[in-house]
Amino acid sequence: MIAQLLHIYNSLSRQKEKFVPITPGFVGIYVCGPTVYGHPHLGHARPYITFDVLNRYLLHLGYKVRFVRNVTDVGHLEDELAGEGEDKITKKARLEQLEPMEVAQYYTDSFHRKFEALNIKNPNIEPRASGHIIEQIRMTEEIIKNGLAYESNGSVYFDVVKYNKTSNYGKLSGRVLEDLISGAGEERRELEGQTEKRNRADFALWKKASPEHIMKWDSPWGVGFPGWHIECSAMSSKYLGETFDIHGGGMDLLFPHHECEIAQSNAANRKDPVKYWMHNNMITINGQKMGKSLGNFITLDELFTGKHMLLEQAYSPMTVRFFIMQAHYRSTVDFSNEGLRAAEKGMQKLFNAIELLDKLKTSSTSTSDVKSLKQKCYDALNDDLNTAIVISHLFEAVRIVNSVYAGSESITTVDLEEIKNLFNLFVFDILGVKQENASDSNDLDGLMQLIIDIRAEAKNKKDFATSDKIRDGLSKAGFEIKDGKEGVLWSKK
Ligand code: ZN
Repeated sequence: MIAQLLHIYNSLSRQKEKFVPITPGFVGIYVCGPTVYGHPHLGHARPYITFDVLNRYLLHLGYKVRFVRNVTDVGHLEDELAGEGEDKITKKARLEQLEPMEVAQYYTDSFHRKFEALNIKNPNIEPRASGHIIEQIRMTEEIIKNGLAYESNGSVYFDVVKYNKTSNYGKLSGRVLEDLISGAGEERRELEGQTEKRNRADFALWKKASPEHIMKWDSPWGVGFPGWHIECSAMSSKYLGETFDIHGGGMDLLFPHHECEIAQSNAANRKDPVKYWMHNNMITINGQKMGKSLGNFITLDELFTGKHMLLEQAYSPMTVRFFIMQAHYRSTVDFSNEGLRAAEKGMQKLFNAIELLDKLKTSSTSTSDVKSLKQKCYDALNDDLNTAIVISHLFEAVRIVNSVYAGSESITTVDLEEIKNLFNLFVFDILGVKQENASDSNDLDGLMQLIIDIRAEAKNKKDFATSDKIRDGLSKAGFEIKDGKEGVLWSKK
């Protein structure tokens, strides 16, 4: 265990707090996962990269981390605020003439591929909402038993007004219940089902399914499906306990989703579910909120291939990752071609310096202070995961490497090792940046050199059968080798 004093901003207390896990040495994290009814877009990249850095840093510090990130494959309603409307996955399934689970699987796979490209570590547990219907029913029953939910026409609603008499509904978001009931400041649509509720602020724990609804299950209240908020409460408490360390998600989930999670856990278990709530800020595009209706909705596939009218080129997954980490997670990020190109260049500069490391000549003295850089990077991460500051310190190391290579500065062997270590630790392990394609071609280079050497040996021994077999075999596999004056060269056909 590395002794570092990590402080994180807790949305609940609205201040930075020293991170002290509930059980020493162990950390339980729950991050709201994707709703799998569409391809991942730009907005998805930010929370998953942010909490991946947190996961990597905690692992580096020596904690045993259980990282849970769910898949919402049921229960996420079109109109989240009102808790009404059609299930997003069912709607998509109806439009595409597919089984709902087929839609969920298709988009879950799409998310997984993007997570891998972005070098986001797999969660330790990835529970699906549809696989935890029983847990959600049990929790709903518990809340009814405690008098804080009621059945109405086959649906079950959380009684926000009654709950607020003994607890504080709004303690996370700062919302005031009276405003929510009157609908002040918000244009509210009256939707089907509103009349079933005692109050407009009440939210659904279980919804009665209409006959045409495809995803539905039996319950004590008839055939229906669970509400969206209850799934995260049921799954997080199942895998991390009734109170766990960190709950993460985007700021857009703070209300109502996370506020409802707090209410549900208090109503069912009489406990606050989470010690530290962390929320990343949003991404804007050229200063605008991203939205399908605004025509600035960019999927990650489009970003990686450059196929979108707003994109001037393709941007690699690592460029996107680097770009996102160049800002602190609680500040806004504006996506623009200029910003992404700058991130691409910056990352290239970093990798160029890393490649120079083995070519540097060392001296008896160092002209720059190298030793303090590592602690400065730790200090930045300890200050609410400030990856932006970490990257600025890494660029100081880049500057030193380039100066030493140019001969305008000198470095000792010990300090050079220190820089190598710094890059390994922060660039690769903690920030999770990897060199794209480079490792593949390096591996191939080594492998081809071995084959060329074996063929040369065979030729020397006049074993032409073997040398021809190697040449023909490579040709079949799509490789060409040429005997030239400077030795044997290979290329892909
Ligand atoms: Zn959630």
